[in-house]
Amino acid sequence: MVRAEVIVVGGGPAGSTCAWKLKQLGIDALILDKKPFPRLKLCAGWIQPEVISDLEIEIDDYPHRIVRFDRFRVHIKNKNLKIPVNQYAIRRIEFDEWLLQRSGADVHTHEVKNIEQRGEFYVIDEKFECRYLVGAGGTYCPVYRTFFKEKKPRRKNLMIASLEHEFAYDYQDENCHLWFVQNNLPGYSWYVPKGNGVLNLGVGGYAEKIKANRDTIKNQWEFFVKELKKLNLVQKVDFEPKGYVYFLRDDNDFVQNGRAYVIGDAAGLATRDMGEGIGPAVRSGILAAESIVQKKPFSLKRIKKNSFSKPGMLYKLGRAYLLRSYD
Ligand SMILES: Cc1cc2nc3c(=O)[nH]c(=O)nc-3n(C[C@H](O)[C@H](O)[C@H](O)COP(=O)(O)OP(=O)(O)OC[C@H]3O[C@@H](n4cnc5c(N)ncnc54)[C@H](O)[C@@H]3O)c2cc1C
Repeated sequence: MVRAEVIVVGGGPAGSTCAWKLKQLGIDALILDKKPFPRLKLCAGWIQPEVISDLEIEIDDYPHRIVRFDRFRVHIKNKNLKIPVNQYAIRRIEFDEWLLQRSGADVHTHEVKNIEQRGEFYVIDEKFECRYLVGAGGTYCPVYRTFFKEKKPRRKNLMIASLEHEFAYDYQDENCHLWFVQNNLPGYSWYVPKGNGVLNLGVGGYAEKIKANRDTIKNQWEFFVKELKKLNLVQKVDFEPKGYVYFLRDDNDFVQNGRAYVIGDAAGLATRDMGEGIGPAVRSGILAAESIVQKKPFSLKRIKKNSFSKPGMLYKLGRAYLLRSYD
């Protein structure tokens, strides 16, 4: 049996940040992830400045590329607006591995299947034992399944279905484009150039609403690709999009059950307006670590529910419209 004070299940941004913060606070955690890193993670990799500050990243020291966008090209119906923003984009395949290494945690490649609570301890697959258990295994996290599912059931109306493809491409347009309300998609589509000739394309939306429209995310992807070709943003690519589902934040904040915690996508923390999950994953990792070390309740109060404040975004959209800052 391998013993640790804290075991974190999942080495994505939530899990690695939690282990990194625990180490800063004096506790060595063990991370279990079913995949060896670097591993593919479907994600546009779009992050807000507070992710950089929460993670204490000095951009010049980051060994991979971070792209900064000072505006988005937002397409709503036939209007193309230029919205000023302050956003960054990373590649998850690079970012997650770097965060995991930087955490300084001991990492085991192990797919967690069974977890039991025995007295003060959590026993995982009869191989690992810990006093504190952190579930950071994403949508299908076994810690969520075992200790949280009953009191915090997933809300199907908050489930996001997505299809995405990231690939090497000699793109000519370095702007980040977002399309809303296109082809009746209850969500949005994106074109995110990641620097160094890597492009990320995707569509995502409320799974239940797509189904209610007798539509599929695959149809939406096919429509999107045709539009990109019409706009000459991509040509001659053999697309192989992959799908994933995750959940937006609900109002149920049951994320601590005794000495077991859920963070990131395992807790369903992605923002309600944009489905941004990296920021909430990172922040929840930090807060869970502080809760463990300082023996205080784990609260989601400092994790925002929306990426943009409504008045702020409405103001930007209105201003862009009035100043005719569209093509
Ligand atoms: C198509 C798409 C685009 C997105 N774009 C953005 C974006 O641009 N910006 C943004 O902020 N968010 C975006 N998101 C959301 C974001 O990707 C997630 O919210 C974020 O990855 C959550 O991080 P996490 O650490 O909680 O989970 P994950 O990154 O999913 O990490 C979970 C880890 O747990 C491991 N694991 C799972 N099960 C087990 C098990 N049984 N045993 C051991 N290990 C296990 C997995 O291998 C994985 O490494 C997007 C999501 C999708 C699907």
